[in-house]
Amino acid sequence: MDLGIKGRKAIVCASSKGLGRGCAIKLAEAGVDLTLNARSAGPLEETAQYIRDTFGVNVQTVAVDITTEEGRNKVLAACPDADILVNNAGGPPPGVWSDWGQAEWQAAIQSNMLTPILLATAILPGMISRKWGRIVNITSGSVKSPIAQLGLSNAARAGLTGFVAGTARQVAKDGVVMNNLLPGQHDTDRIGALMGNRAKTENITLDEARARAQAALPTGKFGDPLDFGATCAFMCSEHASFMIGQNVLLDGGAFNSTMG
Ligand code: NAP
Repeated sequence: MDLGIKGRKAIVCASSKGLGRGCAIKLAEAGVDLTLNARSAGPLEETAQYIRDTFGVNVQTVAVDITTEEGRNKVLAACPDADILVNNAGGPPPGVWSDWGQAEWQAAIQSNMLTPILLATAILPGMISRKWGRIVNITSGSVKSPIAQLGLSNAARAGLTGFVAGTARQVAKDGVVMNNLLPGQHDTDRIGALMGNRAKTENITLDEARARAQAALPTGKFGDPLDFGATCAFMCSEHASFMIGQNVLLDGGAFNSTMG
């Protein structure tokens, strides 16, 4: 399917690896020029070069921490007229409620709530004036169904979800489409780290932790970041124009419910 976005410009945050990388690859496949971001320059440039070589689109990189004001400004300066924004950042550490004080809460809210809100706030005026824009926020299945040890994520991402629910409906008439994409368990470094944590807690091997987690999914396996990216690219496409303020869950059926 032609997604109708060839030649558009996208900022994809936190995209050297994992889900962000999957989104960047699938946008490039649709002909979108990219501004990619991550903190470490090496893996970021590797991903950028792979995408240039494979898809022939323009790719620039901005190696900064996207959760800082300076980092946000550098990314926005590199691509001031983005048509597409994919918001993403690292997830907060696991723990229990008693582990988290003010500093931990502020860090989680900064990464997973304020950063995407402030990036959207900076980019929306240009999208509105050009009467076209797409914003996809990578959040988490934990917004729908809490993951107890990821309380920081459950709460911060719920705040972002509330912002998107209202704002998406305010900007829709100006051609701006804003939605959230909720990953369940996908095979990335992040899931590797969480499986490591599970192995330690349950005193089992890493392979056993991965096997148990995958066996608990209706699909029997973790999700593929490229499939995740393909859904993101559709949500950034011309065809997504009537999809407003939605929370699209990609979790292999883990959320057990008769209706969404
Ligand atoms: P990942 O494989 O660990 O990749 C994270 C990517 O983000 C890397 O490119 C990393 O590069 C970059 N990054 C992290 N912090 C950053 C920052 N402050 N500024 C800029 N770039 C940053 O993680 P993932 O699995 O793709 O997860 C992406 C998001 O989805 C996370 O918020 C995660 O919690 C959430 N999520 C993932 C899953 C899953 O199953 N994978 C499930 C639910 C939610 P650098 O380290 O070089 O910065």
